Amino acid sequence: MRLKLHTQILLGLVLGAVAGVLIGPPIAVIKPIGDAFIKLITMIVVPLVFASILLGVASLGDLAKLGRIGIKTIGYYLATTSIAITIGLVLANIVKPGSRLDPTIKDRLLTDFSGAAEVNIERLGDKPGVIDTLLDIIPTNPVESLAQANMLQVIFFALILGVVLTQLDKKHVTPIVALAEGINEAMIKLVHLVMKIAPYGVFALIAAIVGQYGIGILQTLFVYSAVVVVGLIIHGGVIYPTAVRFLGGMNPIHFFKGIAPAQLVAFSTSSSNVTLPVTMECAEENLGVGDEVSAFVLPLGATINMDGTALYQGAATIFIGQVYGLELSITQQLLVVLTATLASIGAAGVPGVGMITLALVLRTVGIPLEGIALILGVDRILDMCRTAVNVTGDSSCAVVVAASEGDLATIPPVAPGGEEPVWTSETKV
Ligand code: ASP
Repeated sequence: MRLKLHTQILLGLVLGAVAGVLIGPPIAVIKPIGDAFIKLITMIVVPLVFASILLGVASLGDLAKLGRIGIKTIGYYLATTSIAITIGLVLANIVKPGSRLDPTIKDRLLTDFSGAAEVNIERLGDKPGVIDTLLDIIPTNPVESLAQANMLQVIFFALILGVVLTQLDKKHVTPIVALAEGINEAMIKLVHLVMKIAPYGVFALIAAIVGQYGIGILQTLFVYSAVVVVGLIIHGGVIYPTAVRFLGGMNPIHFFKGIAPAQLVAFSTSSSNVTLPVTMECAEENLGVGDEVSAFVLPLGATINMDGTALYQGAATIFIGQVYGLELSITQQLLVVLTATLASIGAAGVPGVGMITLALVLRTVGIPLEGIALILGVDRILDMCRTAVNVTGDSSCAVVVAASEGDLATIPPVAPGGEEPVWTSETKV
């Protein structure tokens, strides 16, 4: 019997962790297998996003619908992100992980990681202000945006181009749409192909991370890490299922089963952007989200919607403040909600970026930036968890928006032939 793909990936993950613990740092020699996997899916992201957004908008043919989908999507993203930060803040205020940190551990962490923290703070120095960030969404040279994989610019250009196509004469539109369709189909085929090696890629990535950092690092900051992880579980296990059930009319178990491959890939790669082709595939094939909705909601979500990151920033801010003996007032905490929401919009879905924008949040409420050194050691592991939540949030939005637009197909749990519909290892490529 052949296992389903998500079971294979899960197996890769568990065996990778075991191999990492048993072998330790030398296991890093197999990391190139994981890197190859990451590069292969990343390779698909730009053409897929460009072609699918273009197609989605061009085939909508109805700009009012686009506007409606846009407002619903952004509204959902802002609402869930604010809830996520609030969960992070409330939990950290109740548990007070920072007040329990042993002073000797604090000094050790501050010395060990101060160099790395400096690097993050310096990187923040290059971050432009709000107006510049917004202006930066408009590309001056779309080819350059594609080449540099600047996702917000790619999305912007594809959207505008799609809108323009709806206004043009059919004879100009047909060849462009046919090309975009061809590229789109080819990219989807490529995703299927690359997913064949996902279990091996995931095994190598997890083994290398566990081998390098060791699970033990979690012990030093156990209470803080637990606050973040419990917060993520609450957000992912309560807020999304509720939204999917009551706003999307979908059984949450069906939802989680459908997006499991995307969650596992997000967990192992720590990048919503890299995971995007898998997320789109799962949403469309396993959850029945219409192409138009998925092509708009998911690429946008991978770039601007990061609930897990925002939750972690709320908890981390309170934690660092507590270690330094600084209690944040309610107003300051509301400021955290606002800045962390904006920071998570401005951050790209790549590994470790939440750590950099955390500095922005800390600076806004006057907490010493060096405090980042305290939590750097566990960042990689928490990044994995928060990225899985980020991707889940994007997918839940796709379900909710698709349902509200009548664009959610009912996928039978088992296809008529008795076989699982998609993502089985038998999926033909
Ligand atoms: N790695 C996260 C993502 O790609 C962002 C972060 O929290 O660092 O979604």
